[in-house]
Amino acid sequence: MASSDVDASTQRQGPVRPKRGVPEGLWRRCPGCQQTIFRKEAERRLGVCPECDFHWYVSAEERIRQVLDEGTFEEWDADLESADPLNFSDKKRYRERLVAEQKRTGLRDAAVTGSGMIRARRVAFGVTDSAFIMGSMGSVVGERLTRLIERATAQRLPLIIISASGGGARMHEGILSLMQMAKVSAALGRFDNAGGLFISVLTNPTMGGVAASFASLGDLVFAEPKALIGFAGPRTIQATIHLQLPKGFQTSEFLLEHGYIDRIVRRSDLKSEIARTIDFCGK
Ligand SMILES: [Zn+2]
Repeated sequence: MASSDVDASTQRQGPVRPKRGVPEGLWRRCPGCQQTIFRKEAERRLGVCPECDFHWYVSAEERIRQVLDEGTFEEWDADLESADPLNFSDKKRYRERLVAEQKRTGLRDAAVTGSGMIRARRVAFGVTDSAFIMGSMGSVVGERLTRLIERATAQRLPLIIISASGGGARMHEGILSLMQMAKVSAALGRFDNAGGLFISVLTNPTMGGVAASFASLGDLVFAEPKALIGFAGPRTIQATIHLQLPKGFQTSEFLLEHGYIDRIVRRSDLKSEIARTIDFCGK
């Protein structure tokens, strides 16, 4: 039935009654199985679908709550903001886009970094948030991560970075965005020379310049189940090489099988698994 038929008949019957029963936001459609899920139940399971086990998006703030001991997170370099040196504009001026994203997400930029405790072990901790311009790495994300890594080196802290970046490098900052890949990677090289332990956790999605730099450089690379992880998107690759891509290409499971990641860790186990790994590595 066309929806206009419904509207017309409703109008004929007089004033439209407000829908009863279900308050806004009580239910959510799961992107994995398309079922309607009781939001509270999914939240109790840290944002994991009770029907199909799909790991939903969680914000940087929520991730900090899930992984770090309560009240232990101290943010570093929170005041860094992009200067928009290219005066870039696409559909919108980049400067305005940044302000709009900041208002919408409550974040300054796509990465949050600092220190905190994981089951009473002090760590340097960073997380990217795909809600902020797709979690892309511009100069602020690159600089925050670099300073995080440098402090982790100086203070001899285990380093944990959880990536949720579908955007890769942030094209609004052009070459300045691309050079962050080299900068962050060089800092990780020095961290490694100093004997540091870096656990990189890949979540849905981790793509482009983020996947091509720090996210892939962990001493151990963990991934959440069924996450999309890769460099270019599957359609771009298919159009380039003119071959059918294998089933499950660019998922955590496929990449585990092919040796790109070390372990798939469910969200509910992530905190314990990181703590155990830190102990195992004697850090
Ligand atoms: Zn589901």
